[in-house]
Amino acid sequence: MINVMKTVIKDKPGVGAIMTTKEIPKVKSNEVLVKVLATSICGTDYHVYSWDAWSQKRIKTPLVMGHEFAGEVIKVGEKVTKVKLGDIISAETHIVCGKCPLCITGKAHICTNTEILGVDTDGTFSEYVVIPEENAWINDPSIPPEYLCIQEPLGNAVHTVLSGEIIGKSIAVVGCGPIGIMAVAVAKAVGASKVIAIEVNDYRLNMAKELGAHIVINPIKEDVVKRVMEETEGLGVDVVAEMSGNPKAIAQALEYIRLGGRMSMLGIPTEDVKLDVANGIVFKGIQIHGIVGRKMYETWYQVKGLLSSGNLNLDKIITHKLPLENFEEGMELMKSGNCGKVVLFPNIK
Ligand SMILES: [Zn+2]
Ligand SMILES: [Zn+2]
Repeated sequence: MINVMKTVIKDKPGVGAIMTTKEIPKVKSNEVLVKVLATSICGTDYHVYSWDAWSQKRIKTPLVMGHEFAGEVIKVGEKVTKVKLGDIISAETHIVCGKCPLCITGKAHICTNTEILGVDTDGTFSEYVVIPEENAWINDPSIPPEYLCIQEPLGNAVHTVLSGEIIGKSIAVVGCGPIGIMAVAVAKAVGASKVIAIEVNDYRLNMAKELGAHIVINPIKEDVVKRVMEETEGLGVDVVAEMSGNPKAIAQALEYIRLGGRMSMLGIPTEDVKLDVANGIVFKGIQIHGIVGRKMYETWYQVKGLLSSGNLNLDKIITHKLPLENFEEGMELMKSGNCGKVVLFPNIK
């Protein structure tokens, strides 16, 4: 095998990334080498690419970007037992210690020593990637790699929607970026009674509609609180899936959430958020739940089950497929917001 690979690297601080070649990484005894068949662009990748405040603090360059993928195992370390050559795998992207109090009590998704693939270690915008065997998720090889690679963000959507009761409940999905539209699809698939999508970008609002949202609301064009109350018989919505991180949207959600409701929060605000804690949270008796990553590996089994159910239309979620060389075009799409999931293919000649 030739020992260099094409790869997209965040080479230095500042906006952008470059395509270059790099030596194919060596496998340690507990790791596997994977030929990347498909890798999708995450909001996190766009943050790293555009070098926002979070990236400036967290990212050490040079770094191979990317973390959502599906690929074929082509080499295994000598201590690897579960994963075999030829397996088509994806990965849980949180690399955890397995030893801390959280890991050993079934809460590895909030391990205190978490490292993230493509954030803290070299990632998947590359022809090949090395990952610990522990993180490998063995896929059904009959499912196309572009679907398999989005299981990781789909897991975020599943974790958010299923972190409390949902069957027969109304849900507002606030922010319909790729994970938001997946949350719409998941809520529909598992039997939410009414799915209300709230989003400022009309392209994404249309996607939410196509994925089955019963009601779509653009907060720039209408009064969100008034409309949600009207759509829920004046009681407010049972569940809020907060995917936007927008301070104003979060404050509004506390106005239209029902007494005793649940707000599961995945979106990350980039500034301080001012909330009416007394009237929006305490006197309403609501639950607020922070969502980090995916439960290991409960969420992955839920994703697997949903994929095999045939109830999720992933074709509508994946809007763009590009060769890895066109990663900059993918980043521009992310910037515009006029896309669902953008999938890159590193190994098409
Ligand atoms: Zn991701
Ligand atoms: Zn741990």
